[in-house]
Amino acid sequence: MLELAHVTHVYANGTRALDDVSLSVPNGMFGLLGPNGAGKSTLMRTVATLQTPTAGSIRFGAIDVIAHPEALRETLGYLPQDFGVYPRVSAYDMLDHMAVLKGIAAARERKETVETLLNQTNLWSVRKKAIAGFSGGMRQRFGIAQALIGNPGLIIVDEPTAGLDPEERNRFLNLLAEIGENVVVILSTHIVEDVADLCPRMAVLAAGRIQLEGAPLALIEQTRGSVWAKTIGRDELDEARLRYEVISTRLFAGRTIIHILSHDDPGDGFAAVKGGLEDVYFSTLARSRRVPAEATSSAVAA
Ligand code: ADP
Repeated sequence: MLELAHVTHVYANGTRALDDVSLSVPNGMFGLLGPNGAGKSTLMRTVATLQTPTAGSIRFGAIDVIAHPEALRETLGYLPQDFGVYPRVSAYDMLDHMAVLKGIAAARERKETVETLLNQTNLWSVRKKAIAGFSGGMRQRFGIAQALIGNPGLIIVDEPTAGLDPEERNRFLNLLAEIGENVVVILSTHIVEDVADLCPRMAVLAAGRIQLEGAPLALIEQTRGSVWAKTIGRDELDEARLRYEVISTRLFAGRTIIHILSHDDPGDGFAAVKGGLEDVYFSTLARSRRVPAEATSSAVAA
């Protein structure tokens, strides 16, 4: 179990990227969903001990993460948004090198680890190729391979499917799902389907605050009876926004399908639809914009 209590982070320029975040993350896949700028990367880097929060505490099992970052690093697998530089060394050599850094000193154990990971991530056939020449999907699978070195108990994956084509994305998500239920896996993303497909638990982060937390299925159930859909022309959208609480809009065959939130039948040609996680997410974001946390304006106040 990973537990965050009252974690706040204010950058030097006054931006309050995290604002009193408390969260309990059990074993299994946990989706952290939020729009760009929500504070996801700040939260992921903080849990990964790459930065220290301004306030709050973080525990992973018995480890006090802020007091003993080195203890967490021993059991952490981290796949950052972007590695930055992709080396010209082969996937095999790079994994071997990273295993040394992770403290796997015995050559035989390292060989076994590296070979298992290359097979698990389906990179065995390209193990001798330079990572610099890998496709986006191969790089992400390599990212997972290096994150799994040394059997981590906590795995953090930051925006993993951005830039992957559908086939690569599927392959990558299946791989993540296989990692197992005995470790904590946090998947940070702005893509609703990634969470819907994979995560038995999730939270929505916006403006540095946890806006919603729970099991996707239960959260979807809560929207039952209050999501309504209608197909309109694009020129009708502005008026619809004024009249209704529009939670999402989607183009379909040149027309716009709008979903609105309404506890009573709005009439006017709307039909009740079974809500999905998108409806949960977008209505949460709409609510968070309507009730901006007073504390999040500190950057402006300065
Ligand atoms: P996300 O990953 O959800 O897009 P981030 O954690 O990257 O969000 O950013 C949260 C907020 O903090 C944004 O307003 C961003 O501009 C700001 N921010 C991120 N990193 C820094 C930094 N090093 N210095 C100042 N502000 C930052």
